[in-house]
Amino acid sequence: MAAHEANRLDLGQHSPTPDSRLPIPGSRVIRQLPQSVVNKIAAGEVIERPASVVKELLENALDAGSTRIDVSLGQGGLDLIRVTDNGCGLSPEQMPLALASHATSKIHDADDLFHVATFGFRGEALASIAEVSHLRLRSRTHDSEQAAEIEVIGGKSSPLTPCGAAPGTMLEIRNLFFNTPVRRKFMRASQTEIGHCSEAFTRIALTHERVHFTLRHNDRTIFDLPPVADWRDRIAALCGRDLERSLIPITSGDGDVQLQGYVCDPQQSRSNNRMQYVFLNGRHIRDRSLQHALGEAYRGLLLHGRFPIGFLRLQMPAEYVDVNVHPTKLEVRFQDSGRIYSLVLGTIRKKFLATDLTAKVRINPGDNDAETAALDPAALEQHRRDLVDWAKGALEASSAELNAQGSPLVAGTAVLEEDSQGVLDLQFERAGSEQLQLNTLDRSWPAAGRAPSPLMAQAGALAHARPAPVAAPSISHLGFQVHNRYLVTQTDEGMVVIDQHALHERILYEQVRAKVMGGKMETQRLLVPEPVTLPPNEVAAALENKALLAQLGMEVEPFGGDTVLLSSYPAMLANLGPAEMLRQVVDQIVAGGKSPDRRDLLNDLLNMIACKAAIKAGDRLAPEEITALLEQREHYQDTHHCPHGRPTALVFTREELDRRFKRT
Ligand code: ADP
Ligand code: MG
Repeated sequence: MAAHEANRLDLGQHSPTPDSRLPIPGSRVIRQLPQSVVNKIAAGEVIERPASVVKELLENALDAGSTRIDVSLGQGGLDLIRVTDNGCGLSPEQMPLALASHATSKIHDADDLFHVATFGFRGEALASIAEVSHLRLRSRTHDSEQAAEIEVIGGKSSPLTPCGAAPGTMLEIRNLFFNTPVRRKFMRASQTEIGHCSEAFTRIALTHERVHFTLRHNDRTIFDLPPVADWRDRIAALCGRDLERSLIPITSGDGDVQLQGYVCDPQQSRSNNRMQYVFLNGRHIRDRSLQHALGEAYRGLLLHGRFPIGFLRLQMPAEYVDVNVHPTKLEVRFQDSGRIYSLVLGTIRKKFLATDLTAKVRINPGDNDAETAALDPAALEQHRRDLVDWAKGALEASSAELNAQGSPLVAGTAVLEEDSQGVLDLQFERAGSEQLQLNTLDRSWPAAGRAPSPLMAQAGALAHARPAPVAAPSISHLGFQVHNRYLVTQTDEGMVVIDQHALHERILYEQVRAKVMGGKMETQRLLVPEPVTLPPNEVAAALENKALLAQLGMEVEPFGGDTVLLSSYPAMLANLGPAEMLRQVVDQIVAGGKSPDRRDLLNDLLNMIACKAAIKAGDRLAPEEITALLEQREHYQDTHHCPHGRPTALVFTREELDRRFKRT
């Protein structure tokens, strides 16, 4: 462990006093760091938060061959993490060794590093954890009569004492980071930490379906996962039956590299890549190139900003990968990453070509938004077929391209990522048929689907580009609407083009915020409370955030198992459908719990509600609606940006117009 690491770690305890930092002329003494400092540095790398402890302890339990593992947490793991297993156990002589640093039973020499088959091998997890917590280890091997127990507080251990316990191991971690106050201070609310812990648990429980796992938090059972033979059942238990129903199995092999798993049909997607699980030889990994491969496989099938869902298992000889490149082994290095990339992309594409997505890509009733409801069903169906045909064509075309070039990267992706201002400028300057064609496709495709990217539209479908008939603009005395999505008006400064969705979203955000803060959110009571089925961690999140939900106008009660009862909801979200709305809010709560830079969950939820309730691009507005929107624009400060930070309006100053028309 490099000593310079100490500088960037917030370990508090060992920072030198101001005096000792003064340079002493002519002498710069190099000292061997005491073992306890080395351990704390190691702890800083491996143990970032309670979830890291959960991961390390679960991996140890699996390495010990356990078939049942129980996890119990208190206050997001900050107060308590207890993992009990029925694995091989440790003999009393081995127990102090297990807690010593660089002590492991899993590798013997450096060569072993290149074919690691166990989760652990560095032998530093327990030592690191013991350094920054109150640790209790109790263990019994299967052939011994009695268990033994040892306690370590901040690295100092008590003598072994005999005690009674079932065969296996129990590790209890209390007061994590008690002696590294800086790190402790950085820990977030219990809700955030439990989110991370439950994610760490999920990653491991997902791929060990033959092991019985349970997870409890503050005495509430979040997951109870009995062993199952079929991987689908474990996915369903963790992610919900709804998701499981849309899984598409994939399997393929390329010599000694095997790929097996599931992807989701495109009607299910997420707003982030959290639901992309890749397991390499049973170990969860994050790999950018594989995430990219997954995204490429769905190109043209998902809306911009939506991410596919996937559960992929890769098996390959251990010597094809180096797992020793990342302290928590989350990232690995493949010997031949191009081969793995092509295997993943090719397998999913082939599967999609052979799968009748037409039947599956249908409107999710909950996701239905006002604009699609207005279209006639036959036309909608035709649009959908067109799109699926187009997507298949595009898939075929780009598979061919992939094979021909052997290059996985489709040129030009970056253009899609351009910020909206740039794209708008571009379109303003050469408003042409591509733009019109995009509008029609956009509008035909429900929220759950995806409009093709402009580039793909050019490449694949320009042949049958048919400009859409443009409706006459809707006009109010304050301005008018063009292309059913922008409002054009004027101010003293010049001409203003407004994104109708972004502006409405901004106005609603301010209104909802005022209502929620004043406790005056209008709610609609359901005559009969509606049972809503959610994945177990979302049930727990909903119930733990009852008060927050009530503030937003949603009343939930436990209904047992994976179901909660919803008895009221915010009136302004009526068009979403109560169940779908609750799902989206809870999804946001869970996601918010996972990204550390999210400051204010309530604020995020307000943003989401405003976005969902606002008129959409594509909604034709009546003249009085245009008037109302433009009038309200003046009442709200900061209407230049929608809550997402996108601009709501572009101003073309008189000077700029004059300049462009060469009047100056
Ligand atoms: P590593 O897992 O990298 O070897 P750890 O510090 O996590 O290092 O664990 C040290 C050793 O303690 C392991 O090699 C293993 O022999 C033993 N050990 C840890 N947890 C358990 C457990 N739950 N059951 C049996 N042995 C364990
Ligand atoms: Mg370990």
